[in-house]
Amino acid sequence: MLVKKGIAVSPGVAIYKAVVLDNEDRPVPRRTIPVALIDHHIRRVDSALEESIKQITEVHQQTTETLGEELAKIFSFHLGMLADPALTDQFRAMVRKERVTAEYAVYSVMTTYAQTFLAHENSYFRDRVGDIYDLKRRVLRQLITSGTNDLSKVDAPSIVIAQDLTPSQTAALDKSKIMGLATDVGGRTSHTAILAHALGIPAIVGLEDLTQRVESGDTVIIDGHRGVIIVEPDAGQLLEYKQEVRRIKKLDAELGKLRDLPAVTKDGTEISLLGNIEFPTEVPDALEKGAVGIGLYRTEFLYLSAEHEPTEEQQYDSYVETIRNLGGKPLTIRTLDLGADKIPESAELAAPMLNERNPFLGLRSIRLCLQNLPMFRTQLRAILRASAEGPVKIMFPLISSVMELRQAKMILQDVKEDLDDQDIPFAENIPVGMMIEVPSAALQAKTFSKEVDFFSIGTNDLIQYTVAVDRANERIANLYSAGHPAVIQLLKDVIRAADRSDTDVSLCGEMAGQPEFIMLLLGLGLRSFSMTPPAIPEVKRLIRSVSLDQCRRVARKAVGFDSDREVLNYLRDEVNKVMPKAFDGRSIGF
Ligand code: PEP
Ligand code: MG
Repeated sequence: MLVKKGIAVSPGVAIYKAVVLDNEDRPVPRRTIPVALIDHHIRRVDSALEESIKQITEVHQQTTETLGEELAKIFSFHLGMLADPALTDQFRAMVRKERVTAEYAVYSVMTTYAQTFLAHENSYFRDRVGDIYDLKRRVLRQLITSGTNDLSKVDAPSIVIAQDLTPSQTAALDKSKIMGLATDVGGRTSHTAILAHALGIPAIVGLEDLTQRVESGDTVIIDGHRGVIIVEPDAGQLLEYKQEVRRIKKLDAELGKLRDLPAVTKDGTEISLLGNIEFPTEVPDALEKGAVGIGLYRTEFLYLSAEHEPTEEQQYDSYVETIRNLGGKPLTIRTLDLGADKIPESAELAAPMLNERNPFLGLRSIRLCLQNLPMFRTQLRAILRASAEGPVKIMFPLISSVMELRQAKMILQDVKEDLDDQDIPFAENIPVGMMIEVPSAALQAKTFSKEVDFFSIGTNDLIQYTVAVDRANERIANLYSAGHPAVIQLLKDVIRAADRSDTDVSLCGEMAGQPEFIMLLLGLGLRSFSMTPPAIPEVKRLIRSVSLDQCRRVARKAVGFDSDREVLNYLRDEVNKVMPKAFDGRSIGF
């Protein structure tokens, strides 16, 4: 049995067999085999070597023909190594003497080889280390079934364990098969975590070396409330968690009853609870959870798994589908926020975002759009055309200066004029807003309020840029805190600037769905929250249990603390007073 604690990012409990996704550089666990299987594993070593030699011979030939003999030499080195009994006999000897699997013998011998080369005084040998790893991966690929590399091949309900998943892999998870997700890396607001939450799959990230400690087929309990994963649990734990699954089902049923009730405080102020989505198909679920509209549509997800740039028609179709699914409820479409951790899978689309030395501070989001005007204009045309079909707002992400916003608005105006010239209908007065997710924008909120119809505060990025902590890095996740006094100060100033200028303001970062921050945000004057839909019922329950006066008192006190710990402990206590057990067994969300 193994118990590991990580960062809880999506609640729920699930008990299933593990499917460990192969990462080619993942250490192969040492497993012993019965004596009767030794010859079988030696035969597996032999055929893996044979197949690898066949593949390399082909690559060698192709490279010689296309790039010349000099460049093909590297494959002669690979072939030479695999033909050398001084190396390959070690695989067989290890299987025989130590009674280990073929894959472990290859993994272990090649790793030792690489280390010996790395420590060699001659630089020729040190430079060959990359080739040894390359060979190791190739031979292991013949031995480790590729089925677990491909999520679409998971054919029974399972818990997926991976070193990491890209946002597009996560978005493609089949909810009927993937019952839980646990990864070695990631932070609370990494996009993989956000998507897992949106899909309603219990998930834990930042489990560090989990993939090295679990094998496919092990029984796993994932507790997405506490951020705990138990591998090969004992009978007592299984019983306890089966009861927990029943308790959660009952609680969900109770929260479900709130769906059609308004999110109104005890003193009668109506609060707008909206959903965040990545795909049009998420709308029915958001409405089911009680969303009164969509406050953030992350349109870049259409790009992440596309082979080529989505056409204007494809984008238009997605937007219209979203509008139709909403049946008259409002929709805020955010323009492309590509780059940083949202890199398309297709090499063609990813090209302009690669090789960034500092991706979160680099060519991403609105900056990328402003440097790729045909792409930006295509999207704006699609959004504007869709605006003729229902209530749509348009929002620009990552605005960091007034000039940048003006440039984006100018292009929007230009696209509007083109549509006018072509007699194509669109909503002339489509509201235009911006995300406040960079400290410079927060500090200049008063100036920006004169230039836009609305703000949406993106705390996921605002926190990372304010405290200089990568939102997806599990090693510094303890420093990434929505309760940091500097973050709260910025939120307070933005909400006040919006209030004074009569600019609508909403908050669409993960913080909007975390109960511990709701009283504070209400007290600071926020009246609109956009969140991952599964979080809506609990937030609504809390809103219905508090008065604005009470929240203002909480906000006044919370802004006076010096550290995020004090802020968080205080907020948690206050929420517990109105909604006892809100954090029952749950790691406080930050
Ligand atoms: C944010 O930064 O808070 C936000 C909502 O946008 P994203 O998570 O897509 O960066
Ligand atoms: Mg953002």
